Amino acid sequence: MDLEEDNDKVGGALSPNSVEFRASIRKLQRFGNIPVTGKIDAATMKLINTDRCGLKDSTNGVIGRFSLQGTTWKKRDLTYRILNYTRGIPRYTQRRIFRNAFHLWQSSSDLRIREVYSGNADILISFVRQVHGDPYPFDRAGGTLAHAFYPHSNKGLSGDAHFDDDETFTTGTSDGINLDWVAVHEFGHSLGLEHSGVQESIMYPWYKGYIPDIKLSNDDIQGIQALYPKPTERKVQTPATAKATTKATTTRPRVTPRPDVVTPRPTVPDICSSTIRYDTVFVGPGKWTYFVVGDSFWLVDRALRRYGPWTITKFYKHIKTPLDAAYLNKLGNVVFFKGSEFWEYDSARKLKGSGQIRQYGLPSTLENMDAVFTWAKNGKTYFFKDKEYWRYNDNSRRTDPGYPKNIRKAWRFPDYINAAVKWLNNRTYVFRGRQYLKLQKGKARVERYYPKVIADKWMKCNSKGRGILDSDDP
Ligand code: ZN
Ligand code: ZN
Repeated sequence: MDLEEDNDKVGGALSPNSVEFRASIRKLQRFGNIPVTGKIDAATMKLINTDRCGLKDSTNGVIGRFSLQGTTWKKRDLTYRILNYTRGIPRYTQRRIFRNAFHLWQSSSDLRIREVYSGNADILISFVRQVHGDPYPFDRAGGTLAHAFYPHSNKGLSGDAHFDDDETFTTGTSDGINLDWVAVHEFGHSLGLEHSGVQESIMYPWYKGYIPDIKLSNDDIQGIQALYPKPTERKVQTPATAKATTKATTTRPRVTPRPDVVTPRPTVPDICSSTIRYDTVFVGPGKWTYFVVGDSFWLVDRALRRYGPWTITKFYKHIKTPLDAAYLNKLGNVVFFKGSEFWEYDSARKLKGSGQIRQYGLPSTLENMDAVFTWAKNGKTYFFKDKEYWRYNDNSRRTDPGYPKNIRKAWRFPDYINAAVKWLNNRTYVFRGRQYLKLQKGKARVERYYPKVIADKWMKCNSKGRGILDSDDP
């Protein structure tokens, strides 16, 4: 099956309903040896990897250590070609980023990967936007950052890496999306690696923010060496191994300085301890549930798999911790509250607004609030503090008259709660101490058999089942 002509389509625009679009899907399906339906079905989705969506379940529902997609390159000498560049980073720097990214994989295997400047290449690299000639349109800024095709048939789209050019790719800075990391990750897919559940690994599915000096983890190295033999003598000498006696070369010094920022590592709380209190729980972009304690946060996906911890202020740079509360508002923005301040971020984590909570339409009596959630029943947002709660209208951005009211009377759950969230199943969960409870559907009443223990259900502290799909909701 020859897919050469697909390469010409990169950058072109195809309507999802067009004959060409369906034809391209059928082609992809034939090429991936899956049922040819002409529609984007589950099997088709599996053919490709969507980054930072993270919602994609791995084939067996378990994310463990490295995993292999199943196809490899049948040859050891590979070529890549950069078809175009993103704005904002000098071209020669982008070239270097891609070269270094391949070098990381190459130096742990017997692969030799070199750049070509014309003609066909095994791995074509391009920056594209939205609909771009394969069945996986990008989603503007945020969300998916890039995707890459596995080695499959070793022809056509195989190995190609597409970067979403609506992202702001950067290098050497924590602003924007670090192109270095995304490149190393995507090329891992290009070579046949799937996602890994090991946090430190490059193949971990979630973008972890700026890392100054990217290295393969042991997990990545084991992964690549499960696909290809270990490096042999023919390995090209790298600048790092070159002796000081080597004659001056034409190699330029590094243009982008990479500051070695040393951040003191704050102590990470133990989420399985019975004394843990969550400052806030919210659903953020990509349908991840954030559990925040102090400066640390964990992510839990729809299948209750937990990842983390990371530092929240690295993701949301302006906020102050410990937070009081946070929620996803009608616009799909995450709004954080602390003391008398708020910060509102869009799904690309750009700051959209900040200031005093009264500028968000809240009374100053809500300073140092406890929790906030939007109720699926009426779309109104409820703010909680101590023994009282306020009802808020996200459209008019003001609280409704007649509030505050008494929590126990109206909701019949305890006052002084720690956090609350409208979860992915549209149900409300309220967190207090080490326990949580679930509200009945459409009623201000607590479900039977609650409260339950957060550590057991959400964090899977006491079960070997961590990482295994739960059949029902928490
Ligand atoms: Zn990926
Ligand atoms: Zn693509």
